[in-house]
Amino acid sequence: MSNACILCDSSKSKVVAEIPDLWLERLDKIFKYVQCENCGLIYQSPGLSREQLMKYYSFEYRQTQAKKTYFHCIGLRRRAKIVTGNRNHGVLLDIGSGNGEFIRFMRDNYNWEVVGLEIDCELAKTSVNLHQLKVFCGTLEEVNFNNNQFDAITLWDTLEHVPDPSNTLKEIRRIIKPDGILILRLPNYDSRDARLFGKYWCGFDSPRHLFVFNERTINELLMKANFHVEYTRSDIGSYLNFIKSIQFWMIGMGFSINFRRFFLRLLKTPISRLIGFVFMAIKDVGGKGSELVVVASPSK
Ligand SMILES: [Zn+2]
Repeated sequence: MSNACILCDSSKSKVVAEIPDLWLERLDKIFKYVQCENCGLIYQSPGLSREQLMKYYSFEYRQTQAKKTYFHCIGLRRRAKIVTGNRNHGVLLDIGSGNGEFIRFMRDNYNWEVVGLEIDCELAKTSVNLHQLKVFCGTLEEVNFNNNQFDAITLWDTLEHVPDPSNTLKEIRRIIKPDGILILRLPNYDSRDARLFGKYWCGFDSPRHLFVFNERTINELLMKANFHVEYTRSDIGSYLNFIKSIQFWMIGMGFSINFRRFFLRLLKTPISRLIGFVFMAIKDVGGKGSELVVVASPSK
């Protein structure tokens, strides 16, 4: 991957963080994140190729992503509401569909016709076999959907993993209907969590996240791909993300596994969650939550 900024083509950048893979605790290799001095976009430099990256999506990583909890179901419902708040029905494509839980939720509860796209063929196969979902395996470019095929396209925590988000958005623009809706959820670099945790903020998720956006950079990228932003939300602070950042911090600081387990169990008790919920609401006031939700439509 070239080291020039994909948003403004400038090659002037400064290092903002050097981080190992904290999630999988592989601390020997460090990955560098830089910020474009012209437009402010943050990206991994040099960026890993798809082949190199796949090593960091291990079975272990997938397992930790697929945990089912009560709070997880609240999250699913919240995501569904963002879609149904903008469109009532149609064909939905979820890019980065993982185990297919979101498209399954949309099909079973809201009667949407759903299609998934997942780069991990094992995960794609599981969702097809277990829930009779239609899930393609590969990249968006490889699948080559028809023009104007989808009423809604969602990318939950996906665009930051893609090697060229600019191209991905242009391809999405081709396959979305002219009156379709695009919904993205991304880590928010302008969040208080990003300031508080620095390189331990889970929004980096080094080395799997190749880009880190804020409201301004994602808006500009969308405009370049011929979308206009309907609205952006970053008021949904996530307690689970906060816990993940604490976990990353503890790993980085070398806390023992026993202490980390004890502390995480403490943070996940109902009373901690309740306190956490209130704390998040105060901490993330003014759109400073750790997640950015962007709803955009194709420009005419
Ligand atoms: Zn730039």
